[in-house]
Amino acid sequence: MYNVMSSKAEEFINHEEILETLKYAEENKHNEKLITEIIEKAKLRKGLSHREAMVLLDCDIEEKNQEIYALAKQIKLDFYGNRIVMFAPLYLSNYCVNGCEYCPYHLKNKHIARKKLTQEEIRKEVIALQDMGHKRLALEAGEDPVNNPLEYILESIKTIYSIKHKNGAIRRVNVNIAATTVENYRKLKEAGIGTYILFQETYNKEQYEKLHPTGPKSDYSYHTEAMDRAMDGGIDDVGIGVLFGLNLYRYDFAGLLMHAEHLEQAKGCGPHTISVPRLRRADDIDPDVFDNGITDEMFEKIVACIRVAVPYTGMIISTRESKETREKVLELGVSQISGGSRTSVGGYVEEEPEEENSAQFDVSDNRTLDEVVGWLIDMGYVPSFCTACYREGRTGDRFMSLLKSGQIQNCCHPNALMTLNEYLDDYASEKVKAAGKKMIEAELEKIPNPKVKETAKKYINSIDAGERDFRF
Ligand code: SAM
Repeated sequence: MYNVMSSKAEEFINHEEILETLKYAEENKHNEKLITEIIEKAKLRKGLSHREAMVLLDCDIEEKNQEIYALAKQIKLDFYGNRIVMFAPLYLSNYCVNGCEYCPYHLKNKHIARKKLTQEEIRKEVIALQDMGHKRLALEAGEDPVNNPLEYILESIKTIYSIKHKNGAIRRVNVNIAATTVENYRKLKEAGIGTYILFQETYNKEQYEKLHPTGPKSDYSYHTEAMDRAMDGGIDDVGIGVLFGLNLYRYDFAGLLMHAEHLEQAKGCGPHTISVPRLRRADDIDPDVFDNGITDEMFEKIVACIRVAVPYTGMIISTRESKETREKVLELGVSQISGGSRTSVGGYVEEEPEEENSAQFDVSDNRTLDEVVGWLIDMGYVPSFCTACYREGRTGDRFMSLLKSGQIQNCCHPNALMTLNEYLDDYASEKVKAAGKKMIEAELEKIPNPKVKETAKKYINSIDAGERDFRF
């Protein structure tokens, strides 16, 4: 039985409820009156239920679809402005004991080069990342209690935060590692992580069990209930996601929103972010074997519908997607992107020779961080390296209150401009620097509170004079 408050995976992600939701949406996909009502509700910016969002996803009235896209763009603008938060993944180890059918780290893959970074190698990777200009990382590792126990992850986090090279610093470490215990989540929290990220891959239990035949990840309930345990362990920013292409997208879209509703209602705070990865080619993985791939158009619609359904949740897109796709979804709702990413273990220091591939998936967007930053600026987006909320303790529902209070423009906007200015002074090419400085000058004028505006200008001048790390 569906119960949003239940702590049991099969009750808060209830199969029958999803099937009924899909049926309801199918029956109402041309119901103009209902679709209009749902769009009107979405305009209140308080979100939609999974059923309502599903009707919008299925809607096949062209005019109404255009209204959904327009609303998604407006909500994106109202909540996140023109800022785009930048991050990079850091692959620590690809040792893994799981049997995930779509991931080249699976245990049976004897072809992939297995690598695990030592603390010294992590130092070098982090210095390379700092020299690109990154301030925020997402740590990635396979699941292997012998090779990558939690102690290894904790030690790595400590190493990363301790590295100060030139003006560089990693100020927020998000972590994407396998589902674990409340006690371990508590240790991650104590180590100072930002968001704990874990993708569900698919919410369909039967399909999940087929795709994860062996290893600890094969336990659907343990995996699905991980975010509840993470929150019980004190982590208030969690990031969820589906790996689109593994299963029918409609099922997983409904599951994703039910998961968000569950966390909001049962744990008091919805997910901090939603990621929308699509399956990619990788070492011994051929994405065409999985016949649930989605078109770019459907992908864009999914992003737009998530945006209107959960306005307070940030949305992340990685370099799995091409420049062209990224450009489209930035408008429709994505608020965080990676840039200059390497998905191989040790890839920032040294490019791997072809015969030694350790990468998790092939990257579609191969541009450098500087190119990505320049591209964003040219499109009118402010690339932000801000990590202030987490460092000021504005996590979980406190972050959501800031978003809801409308004070974002007096807080996030100056923070974005100051961190962009640091990037420009320390790492940008001349061309990007010139475009960025011009942007900062214009964007400072958009800060509504005159006192904040003056202080931000003062801080920007201090950054130019060599000082670092200002924040509101
Ligand atoms: N090992 C951890 C786990 O199992 O959750 C997390 C880290 S894993 C390195 C990060 C994510 O990469 C996975 O959750 C999965 O969604 C995604 N991934 C795996 N294989 C992929 C592929 N072939 N294409 C795109 N993404 C993939």
